[in-house]
Amino acid sequence: MRKFKGKNSKVNFIWIFIIWFSVILSILLLNNFIINENKKNLLNTIKTITDEINVRLNKEINTKFTNLEVTAKYLSEEELANPEKAIQELNRVAEKSNFNKIAITYPDGVSYLNTGQVINLGHREYFQKSMRGENYISSLVESAVDSSAVNVYSVPIIRNDKVVGVLWGSVLTEDFYKSLLMENIYYLDAIYFVDNLGNTISQLATTPFDKNFFDFIEETGKINEKNLKAMEKDFINAQDSYKLFTYRNEEVYIYYSKLNYNDWWLLGKISTEKIKNMNSSVFITSSGISVALILCSSLSFIILISKNKKTNDLFKLIAFTDDITEGKNDFFLKNNLDKIINKKGNFAFISLEIINIKPIINLLGFKNTQFLLKEAYNYIAESLNKDEVVVHSYLGEYKLVLKYNDEAELIKRIETINLNEINKNIDVKIGIYLIDRADIKFEEVFSYVNIAKESITDHLKYAIYTEEMHKKEYDKIKLEEEIKQGIANKEFKAYFQPKYGKDGKMIIGAEALVRWHKCGSIISPYVFIPVCEVNGLIKEIDELVLEDVCQNLRLWINQNKKVVPISVNLSRNYLDKINCINRLVKIINQYDIPKELIEFEVTESSLVGNEKKLKETIDTLRDKGFKVLLDDFGVGYSSIRTISEMNFDTLKIDKSFVDGIGEERWENIINYTIALSKKLDMNIIAEGIETEEQYQFLINSSCDVFQGYYFNKPINSDEFSKLL
Ligand code: C2E
Ligand code: MG
Ligand code: MG
Repeated sequence: MRKFKGKNSKVNFIWIFIIWFSVILSILLLNNFIINENKKNLLNTIKTITDEINVRLNKEINTKFTNLEVTAKYLSEEELANPEKAIQELNRVAEKSNFNKIAITYPDGVSYLNTGQVINLGHREYFQKSMRGENYISSLVESAVDSSAVNVYSVPIIRNDKVVGVLWGSVLTEDFYKSLLMENIYYLDAIYFVDNLGNTISQLATTPFDKNFFDFIEETGKINEKNLKAMEKDFINAQDSYKLFTYRNEEVYIYYSKLNYNDWWLLGKISTEKIKNMNSSVFITSSGISVALILCSSLSFIILISKNKKTNDLFKLIAFTDDITEGKNDFFLKNNLDKIINKKGNFAFISLEIINIKPIINLLGFKNTQFLLKEAYNYIAESLNKDEVVVHSYLGEYKLVLKYNDEAELIKRIETINLNEINKNIDVKIGIYLIDRADIKFEEVFSYVNIAKESITDHLKYAIYTEEMHKKEYDKIKLEEEIKQGIANKEFKAYFQPKYGKDGKMIIGAEALVRWHKCGSIISPYVFIPVCEVNGLIKEIDELVLEDVCQNLRLWINQNKKVVPISVNLSRNYLDKINCINRLVKIINQYDIPKELIEFEVTESSLVGNEKKLKETIDTLRDKGFKVLLDDFGVGYSSIRTISEMNFDTLKIDKSFVDGIGEERWENIINYTIALSKKLDMNIIAEGIETEEQYQFLINSSCDVFQGYYFNKPINSDEFSKLL
């Protein structure tokens, strides 16, 4: 009996112990779970804040740079020569952009401030960067005037393709910081901005670390070394995360998240104490073993969850609100797209973008534009039906999710959303994607509407995404990659099409035409030049062709061949850029080619909208001793006045004119063109001559030089050298 009793009590004890142990364990696990959840939540919160700050940062920086750029562009010669005269204008810009100081700095570093002070700032990094032609925003620097901590925006002042000074405006670091912050960051003890080396950009905290975050943490104790290394590695890999550190004798979590600008990072600090306090009720419950404690801990768990929910809801409200229109923003759509499109019906995702937002800002000013964007948001929102959404993304882009029955009805509806009813200056472009599956991600639809928008040309306003557009975009990207590779491998070669004098026998020159030798086949410029003109690679191709021409000329000169001038085509992009001519001259000098052996062809279409700059470029080329030809004359819309002001040496009649020979109207036009060119002291070349009849007509019309398949197609350098 006793024995039995004893055994029974032992069993009871084991059961009680097991229950007690499980309760303790589950409380501890629960605690641990909640704490981890909280940490994750904090990281999410910081990410939400960073996303919002990124939007603000872009907005802030773009507006300031736009204001500086516009001012730099329109400073008159008189104001530049005499900066006191510019003070009123500078003050106006400072006020508009909230710069506490603004100044013009000349190449020698001497700076004229809107306050009337004159100081030398030649040593400042932002000045040096902008003298090299860059827009730059500095990290925290000490003001040379009053030692305050500032961030400086600087842009180059460019005249005749040369940087003649720098226009800069400074913002008190504190203001810069405040302009980026959201009102509700009370979760965190402090926020810092650092660059990817850990250097302070801007900060506001009661106990700020010194200049460099990593140095500071390193100094405060060995315990941080491992985490510090991991954090430095995350910075290199652009990976958001958080780490535990000792910070001024206090244990803190540092959360970090990358910003979009300048390799900058946002750091958020929160002490472990504070996190513990946030979970305090759970900690208390974990110390007990009774059912009461289980209830207590469950209760605190529920409270905590709901508290978390409340905080999350508040954050969501802030994070989902667009501060220009006070409506919803991108994050809202990103987080809710699945819920919206999972409802009954067909949905279309639409990006409606105001494409001329910059000119509108220049016209109305930033404040009025903000007002306009808000009005547009309300106008769109009013047109929506149940289950439909509009959000405002970055300056002037609205994203909509609309319900539809069929495509025609959807298009009709989109056409009724006419922002010109609000302001007649607004120009929009609309990309549409018809959502075809409910699990589609925001990023995916976003890229589809962008592809649809990209495909819009000329006067069309909207496009619906198709697979074909995607393929085109993909092919374009692939082609661009292959072109880059081709440039690196020097696969672009010059072919030569001879030009003949009146007798049709003597070669008096040639035009260099690019050919791409790609994997055994030869690709025509019509395939790759349009792409290269958009992405800027055309400059490198033009230089490769010029270099190939010079290399061949050098070879032929050394072989004592009777060389003739070669004309090289220059793209419009090339002519726009600073220092372009010096690069060309450098190549020509490198091969020691006499100037009269190189000529340049500029197409008529590149004159449009670019007259002033082009005239300067053409004059410079001629001053340096090169002849300049006007190519494809007759295809563009340039006026006779423009052409007469441009000082071309030669006018090249386009093939489309030559094709018209045989028809009286065209023959009259050719005769008229030739007479006009002679009056303007220009030589005449006709290109694209394919028949004897065309050649004879042109001889009789006093054309000077002849080029076309009738004589030769473009041929490679070996074949051409045999004709010399
Ligand atoms: P373009 O400068 O007007 O060159 C004349 C084009 O007409 C050349 O085409 C030439 O092969 C072609 N052509 C010449 N005679 C005849 C003819 O009798 N009949 C016919 N049907 N065609 C003739 P290509 O070589 O395909 O070049 C096309 C265009 O690409 C050039 O027009 C030029 O604008 C551009 N291009 C060519 N090479 C370069 C280059 O190195 N740089 C730049 N920027 N553009 C280039
Ligand atoms: Mg040409
Ligand atoms: Mg031509």
